[in-house]
Amino acid sequence: MKLHNFSAGPCVLPKEVITKASEALLDFDNGLSIIEISHRSKPFVDVMEKARALALELLGLEGKGYKALFLQGGASTQFLMVALNLLEKRAGYLNTGTWADKAIKEARIYDDIYEVASSKQANYNYIPKGYDIPSDYDYFHCTSNNTIFGTQMKSFPKTDIPMVCDMSSDIFSRVIDYSQFDLIYAGAQKNLGPAGTTLVIVKEDILGKVSRKIPSMMDYKVHIDKSSMFNTPPVFAVYTSMLTLEWLKNLGGVKAIEEVNEMKARIMYSEIDLNPLFKGFAAKEDRSNMNATFTLLNDDLKETFEAMCIEAGISGINGHRSVGGYRASMYNALSIDSVKALVEVMSELESKA
Ligand SMILES: *Cc1c(COP(=O)(O)O)cnc(C)c1O
Repeated sequence: MKLHNFSAGPCVLPKEVITKASEALLDFDNGLSIIEISHRSKPFVDVMEKARALALELLGLEGKGYKALFLQGGASTQFLMVALNLLEKRAGYLNTGTWADKAIKEARIYDDIYEVASSKQANYNYIPKGYDIPSDYDYFHCTSNNTIFGTQMKSFPKTDIPMVCDMSSDIFSRVIDYSQFDLIYAGAQKNLGPAGTTLVIVKEDILGKVSRKIPSMMDYKVHIDKSSMFNTPPVFAVYTSMLTLEWLKNLGGVKAIEEVNEMKARIMYSEIDLNPLFKGFAAKEDRSNMNATFTLLNDDLKETFEAMCIEAGISGINGHRSVGGYRASMYNALSIDSVKALVEVMSELESKA
């Protein structure tokens, strides 16, 4: 039996994507593996171009001045790359969690960073609202989904300055107006593919406005000019990401997966709310549809609950050390049946206790 994979990342991918990726590992092009052909060969260039085009298409960003790139270094490298490319004097950041905090820390190396709002004092259990974004800042940065704390921005501020968003853990999971952002980045290993590549979507006209010299590998323009092939791209991660994007398109796109994700979240949160043994961590209005964080009210039940989870094949629900308790990550590829299996264990615990 395959375990129900609630891992926060790297995480569950669609079965058919894993199957096709493993086939390509053995034979992608006339007996050659995807990882042993030249990245400049036509078959791989086609993969890269298809992945880039599908990313824009699925987010509704085709023909709107955006370019999609598959880079390396994880979302963590984007923390500094964003600053290097866009920060001239001052930028505003919304501090909603560990990842946002790290993005701020990296950007501060280069210049002045202002926290427009923060929920740090409440251990990030909610999303601050009603803050001002000064209009003379170079850009505003936010994190759409806070993977560790289980909060998600349900709406985004309106501003005339460029908006940058770390969407590592909820890109392609819901319908929003993606064109309100000028730069979006996401490490692949949550909703897209294996670790090793980071999707960056950038509106070209926000680039080229800073006075500093940018090292080539850190320069979005260089990567755009080279069609995301400035140096050897992470071929296997890009190929697998392309397969996931194809899978999503065949399913009916972001709208179709959003419906499934909402259903999974409803099932999960109604159990957390109705079961007297458990308590949700995040403020209700800010709850993430991707990562549900919760705790057991009575620590004495911990061992029993965890043993029952193992018995039911539930894997990867331990909360992050900064929150404790549990975290059920319900990314695009997690089935409703997996959520039902976890909820069943929770209600069985209630009937036993
Ligand atoms: C996982 C995660 C990151 C870090 O991604 P890496 O690819 O490991 O650098 C950054 N931001 C968010 C929101 C994440 O969930």
